[in-house]
Amino acid sequence: MINQYNGISPKGDLLLLQRLARVLGGRSFLHVNSTREGGGVAEILQRMIPILQGLGIDARWEVISGDEQFFEMTKKVHNALQGNKETVTDAMWQHHFEINRQNAANIDLDADAVIIHDPQPGPLVEFKKKGVWIWRCHIDISNPFRDVYNALGRYALKYDAIIFSVSKFARAMNIDEFIIPPSIDPLSEKNRELSDDEISETAKRLGIPADRPIILQVSRFDRFKDPLGVIKSYRMVKKYNDCVLVLAGSPATDDPEGAAVLNEVKEFAANDPDIHILLLPPFSDRDINALQRMAFVVLQKSLKEGFGLTVAEAMWKGKPVIGGAVGGIPLQIVHGITGFLVHSIEGAAFRIRQLLNTPEMADAMGERAKEFVRKNFLITRQIRDYLSAWYIMENKGKSIIEF
Ligand code: UDP
Repeated sequence: MINQYNGISPKGDLLLLQRLARVLGGRSFLHVNSTREGGGVAEILQRMIPILQGLGIDARWEVISGDEQFFEMTKKVHNALQGNKETVTDAMWQHHFEINRQNAANIDLDADAVIIHDPQPGPLVEFKKKGVWIWRCHIDISNPFRDVYNALGRYALKYDAIIFSVSKFARAMNIDEFIIPPSIDPLSEKNRELSDDEISETAKRLGIPADRPIILQVSRFDRFKDPLGVIKSYRMVKKYNDCVLVLAGSPATDDPEGAAVLNEVKEFAANDPDIHILLLPPFSDRDINALQRMAFVVLQKSLKEGFGLTVAEAMWKGKPVIGGAVGGIPLQIVHGITGFLVHSIEGAAFRIRQLLNTPEMADAMGERAKEFVRKNFLITRQIRDYLSAWYIMENKGKSIIEF
C-alpha cells in the first residue's frame, strides 16, 4: 500500500516512515476522537488508519459518543479556545468528565501509543492504563479565552506530550511538545485525479454553471470560517467581474451549530441566483474533489483556523487559494507565491479580482502551490512525524535514534 506513494511523496519521508514502521511493527497505536464524519480530524483518520495497518502497525480508531448537552458544551470549549468568551460551568465540566468516564468503560484503551484528538475526549487520560499518551490539539489556540483554556489544562497537562499543528500555538509547559501539521492523502477519493467528464458531470448534477469563473469555499457552516464575509467579498467582485460563488458544506455530528449558521448564510445570500449554497451529505468526497477542480479560485477566509485542510486540498489541485492570515493557513500559503493571505473582506475581493484579471498568475501560483503541498503536507509526512513522536517518547534521553 505504501508503495502506491512512490513517485508522489518525497522519497525521504517514505524511507524514514518505513524504517520507523519496522521498529514499531506489531505494536498497538490507538486514536480517539469524537466524530466519524465531518471536519478535518475524521478526514485524516479515515485515511491514516489503513495506511498504518498496511505498515504492520496494529492501529485502531475509536470514536467517543455523547449526548446533546455534551456536544453543546464541547463546541463552547472549542469556540472559547479560538477566542470567544464563553461560560462553561463546573456542572458542564463535570458532565464532560462523566461522559468520558462512560466511554472509557466501553472503549479498549489498552495500547502502546494513544493519540487523543481535541478537547472532547480529553478526560480519557484519567483512565490511562499503559503506553505513551499524547494529546493532539487541532484547534487555533493563538489567543484563547483564558478561563476555559486553564480549565482544560487539568487534563491536557496529564498527557506525556502534546502535539500542535503550528509553532505559534505552543506554550512553555512542563510536558513535551511536538509541532506536526496535518496533511492530505493524494490517493483519496477527495484528492485523486478526476477526468474532465467526471468534473462536468458533477457540475451539471449540482447545478453549477460552467460559463463563468467559479469562486469556491468548502467548509463546515461555522462562523469562524466567515461564510458571510465570503459573500460580501463576492459581492464586491461581482460589480466588476461576472462570476459564480459556491459555498459547500456538510454537517459534522460533533458540531451542533451548523444548522443555525447555514440558515444565516442562506438568508444573507438572499436568493442571488449566482450564489450556490450546497449542503452535501457526509462522504461527498468526489463531489468536493470535483468542485475544487472546477473552481477558478478557492477561498478559505477563516477568522480562526487550526490548519485548514481545505487549503492544502485546493492547492494540491493546482488552485490559487486566498486564505485568512490566521492559524495554520500561513504555513500553507506563502503570500504572493503559493496563494494570497488576506486580513479583510476588501482584501479578499481585491485578490480575487487580481487573479480573475490575470489568469497566467493564477496558473503559476497554482503550480507552485501543488509542489509546496507535495513537499510539506502529504499524509506520508504526517505518518512519519507521528511515528517519530511515538518513538522519541519511548526513547527519551537517548541521543542516538537507532532503526
Ligand atoms: N469537508 C467535506 N465536505 C464539506 C465540508 C468540508 O468533506 O461539505 C471536508 C474538507 O474537504 C476537509 C475537511 O472536511 O477535508 C475540513 O477540514 P478543515 O481542516 O478544513 O476544517 P475543520 O472542519 O476541521 O475545521
